Amino acid sequence: MHELSIVASIVESVTESLAAYPGARVKEVRLRVGALASVVQESLEFCYGIATEGTALEGSVLVVNIVPVVVRCGPCGQDVPLESLQSFRCPRCGAPANDVRQGKELEIEAIEIDEAEETV
Ligand SMILES: [Zn+2]
Repeated sequence: MHELSIVASIVESVTESLAAYPGARVKEVRLRVGALASVVQESLEFCYGIATEGTALEGSVLVVNIVPVVVRCGPCGQDVPLESLQSFRCPRCGAPANDVRQGKELEIEAIEIDEAEETV
């Protein structure tokens, strides 16, 4: 499953960031996922539960922010959001627009951690 390897690498990089905060627990991980990143949000969330088991991320929440697709329209000379992924045309003038400026992201936007020492 594609999403599982994505989540595994997220867990890895979050774990690396945590090295600076010994004993910290992750509460929330926010992802920016482009509408074109070809991942299924539900799968990501499902895999997250599996991949975080036994890690400092266990029990944390994965928040997926879907980033809309923005294309550069030549005739308009502007970046415009696509109205539909079915048609790569400028919603303003109808010109074909294949210059994708945004929408392929797959990155960690923020990590919320709990630094307080807990007695578990
Ligand atoms: Zn246009």
